[in-house]
Amino acid sequence: MEKSIFTRIMEGEIPAKVEYEDEQVIVIHDIAPKARVHLLIIPRKPIPTLMDVTPEDLPLIGHIHQVAQTLAKKLEVPGFRLINNCGKEGGQEVFHIHYHFLAGFTE
Ligand code: 5GP
Repeated sequence: MEKSIFTRIMEGEIPAKVEYEDEQVIVIHDIAPKARVHLLIIPRKPIPTLMDVTPEDLPLIGHIHQVAQTLAKKLEVPGFRLINNCGKEGGQEVFHIHYHFLAGFTE
């Protein structure tokens, strides 16, 4: 399978502004932000869509929620949206699972 743009970012082939990373995920700033804060939480594991998540991936999905908490504290945002677009009809453009972390709508 061809490498996704996000795998290429993780491997340093394509530059991105990294906000956070650990052994399971990388968090980058979206190239076309839709809010003052628009981050992408991306698992290192290249799962194509939410529909491909298996029971063994559930700790990873939980970890993504913990990372969202960490980001909210780090960036001192009082609220945020965590969004997954699933499938072409769901608005997904990059087929490497990721969650949009959006905050700062009311400024
Ligand atoms: P999707 O529609 O798949 O949920 O969202 C993909 C997101 O990835 C879009 O918001 C788009 O702006 C972002 N994106 C696409 N290519 C790049 C890139 O090369 N670098 C960064 N930082 N974001 C990207």
